[in-house]
Amino acid sequence: MTGLLIDGVLRGAADDRTYPNINPATEQSIGTAPDADRADLDAAVGAARRAFDHTEWSRDHEFRAHCLRQLRNGLEAEKDRLRDVLVREAGVPVALTYSIWLDTILDAVSYWADLAVSYPYQTELAARETLAGAAARRMVLHEPIGVVAAITPWNYPLACNIFKVSAALAAGCTVVLKPAPDTPWSGAELGRVIVEHTDIPAGVANVVTAADPLLGEALVRDPRVDLVHFTGSTQVGKQIMVSAADAVTRVCLELGGKSANIVLDDADIPSLGAAFAGVCAHAGQGCALTTRLLLPRSRYDEGIAVAQAAFEALKCGDPSDPEVVVGPVINARQRARILDLIGQGKQEARILVGGGTPQALTTGYYVEPTLFCDVDPDAVIAQQEIFGPVLAVIPYDDVDHAVQIANNSIYGLSAAVHSGDLERAMTLARRIRTGTVSVNGAVWLAADTPFGGYKQSGLGRELGVEGFAEFLETKSVALPG
Ligand code: NAD
Repeated sequence: MTGLLIDGVLRGAADDRTYPNINPATEQSIGTAPDADRADLDAAVGAARRAFDHTEWSRDHEFRAHCLRQLRNGLEAEKDRLRDVLVREAGVPVALTYSIWLDTILDAVSYWADLAVSYPYQTELAARETLAGAAARRMVLHEPIGVVAAITPWNYPLACNIFKVSAALAAGCTVVLKPAPDTPWSGAELGRVIVEHTDIPAGVANVVTAADPLLGEALVRDPRVDLVHFTGSTQVGKQIMVSAADAVTRVCLELGGKSANIVLDDADIPSLGAAFAGVCAHAGQGCALTTRLLLPRSRYDEGIAVAQAAFEALKCGDPSDPEVVVGPVINARQRARILDLIGQGKQEARILVGGGTPQALTTGYYVEPTLFCDVDPDAVIAQQEIFGPVLAVIPYDDVDHAVQIANNSIYGLSAAVHSGDLERAMTLARRIRTGTVSVNGAVWLAADTPFGGYKQSGLGRELGVEGFAEFLETKSVALPG
């Protein structure tokens, strides 16, 4: 069993309540997690509030950088244990854990450690007459916002936990992390590493695991919280905005997506099979995956053939098999939801690959990699975030039509462009209303690159200096001068 982290102590929930942690590949429990209740949450928020209001944490930039470097080292030292947790509780294929699910994301902790000391927390404005007519020296201070509620999903459990907690700590905030109910250990293990490997003081970082997602709502509604930093579905993001409104609590929201991959008519289509099938990585449970493939009519059949071959070659199965990239989806409810959307897709488009559950995998929450073509841009499978291994191929007539289809979405998280001409690709990238764009397979995800969504994909940014600034308040001070 893992523990809650409350006020510097790893402990069980009130009344020692626990709930099972289910491995989505075996449908069996791998152990238990503490099932926190309101009293545990109250203690965690109280500890975070006290640590923010009554310690030097928010002002001691050097000490925070030191603690974050310890955290990075601790996470490095515990990587194999964390990898095992990702595979067993989230069904992340082990091959993927060497990339953005675990190994490469640790760079963000070092980035925050550096920014904790190098950020310009105080600037003096250039001389200018004030609106009142008199001269004044004006200082702009950027101060930590206070207590952060970090609420995270199960698809990138460790990455989301690490990004949020380490950025909040680097900025001088204190934090209460509430991981998704399906992936409690990814949160609890981070809490354990904090206790065992760092000097982070009691109360500064707290982790509360619970079976009931609505404990998150209680956290959002707590008036002692200053910022809700959330990653998850657009639907829950909207509920969080409503809950946060009561106390006018600030929110930063990283939400869903339905991103387009636009292949221009001069692209090297035969080389794009891996890019097309990449939407099935981790069973398609990625917010920024390009789940709509836009092909020019002039090369439509060629593009479909490449996608079909790539989908048929995908290996779906046991996530601990190093050759697998398509593991199970997280739980039976998600599988049923995905299969229902695939069923709707069968009414509205032509299916080329998959469309059900793999016959050979009778245990585990598996869904076949599924390829639809001739999809109408307004079809349900072209509009809804499916969050499963499903690609919708849509033909377009010309570049204006491709832009119109790409932007025909309530979401605006990400996009991809493929072209033989980088200038043409860049012109297109500017016309797409999304927070990130990849050109010819280049990866934008890095510690210093702001990431987030336009439209209903979110509010604010994670990572980069912009992401750091989400955790800061701005104070202007005027001095005689
Ligand atoms: P979810 O929205 O169901 O849950 C996310 C978290 O919110 C969980 O911890 C859950 O317990 C909590 N929660 C649920 N109801 C709540 C409420 N009323 N108030 C407060 N907290 C509440 O999301 P999920 O199913 O865990 O994750 C999948 C979703 O996350 C997808 O939509 C995906 O696109 C999105 N996502 C977005 C990003 C991004 O950076 N934009 C990254 C990863 C995942």
